[in-house]
Amino acid sequence: MSTVVAIALGGNQGDVSATFEIAIAKIGQIPSIQMIRQSRNYRTRSIGADAGTDYINAAILVETELTAEGLLDRLQSIEQEHGRVRTVHWGPRPLDLDIIRFGDEIIETQRLMIPHPACWYRRFVLDPWCEIDDGWEHPVHRETVSQLRDRFRKRPLTFGFRNAISNSDRITIEDVAAEFAGQFQEVESIDADLWITTDSHGKPQPRTFACPSNRKLSELVRFLFQSAIDEPVPIRS
Ligand code: AMP
Repeated sequence: MSTVVAIALGGNQGDVSATFEIAIAKIGQIPSIQMIRQSRNYRTRSIGADAGTDYINAAILVETELTAEGLLDRLQSIEQEHGRVRTVHWGPRPLDLDIIRFGDEIIETQRLMIPHPACWYRRFVLDPWCEIDDGWEHPVHRETVSQLRDRFRKRPLTFGFRNAISNSDRITIEDVAAEFAGQFQEVESIDADLWITTDSHGKPQPRTFACPSNRKLSELVRFLFQSAIDEPVPIRS
């Protein structure tokens, strides 16, 4: 049985476009994988203080007879061949390969979260993915890839905080509104395009970003907002 799979590529060290070409060729050479489509490459702003210079992102759509874990093993060995050393979380990297969609499956294991938990709000994932798989419907969010992406193109984007952003972590709604002036509009209604909640228990609901308790909230909120609004720029080749 074969499964349609979307893979996101990212990197910001070395000649990333050349690395992508090699990595995509290696993925295509795996016997149980057939390449379907490849997006253009996009230039995107890096997320996080330690992330380094701009990133390049792309996405591919493949069909495979492998299991999700089997595919992850293959992708991780390709990442390692390109010299990734896991030091800083969200640090600079020559090549990052993420499984964003594995058929319509929802997988939540120690090693794998599918659909990728950040795929629905990161423009640097959504924009390239849209080019190759726009009509696929996210099984949790119940919106297609292009609907997910288009929601974040609106200005001002509407957002809400649930369970409040704690003052002890030195970020408030006013801080965020000032920092992203003109890009966001806070609403009380449930129709917000993006909800941020500190309640990480229970299942995340569509449009809700749940902040894990082990991460610094103010930092995550900034990264979340930035990745939801930053427009990826296609690279002409
Ligand atoms: P990173 O390279 O920072 O994206 O994180 C890699 C880690 O994420 C690995 O340990 C994987 O086991 C784990 N992981 C969880 N879900 C996924 C996914 N959908 N695709 C790739 N890696 C994943």
